[in-house]
Amino acid sequence: MDFSAVLAGLSVTAAVMAIIGAGLLMAAPDFGRWLTNKVAGFFSGDDEDESPHDEFVEGERYFCDSCGWEMDYDTALASADAGYCYKCAVEFE
Ligand SMILES: [Zn+2]
Repeated sequence: MDFSAVLAGLSVTAAVMAIIGAGLLMAAPDFGRWLTNKVAGFFSGDDEDESPHDEFVEGERYFCDSCGWEMDYDTALASADAGYCYKCAVEFE
């Protein structure tokens, strides 16, 4: 058996692996950042951090979809917090 051919093959394989490894290391920071953002977003709940209050504008008037009761800003906020209309008690979706 010609060991020099085996060793030559190994060294080529090692060189290819080193090149691939270097490429992975260069790509890793971006991937790591992406992964970190994903994980951070998951734990901080960024995606579902939308307060229901955001849809209410101070000074505007709001109407219940079910009974048409007119609510001012504060009442609309309170009703949204409670989850139902104070007048007809129909739950908001
Ligand atoms: Zn109502």
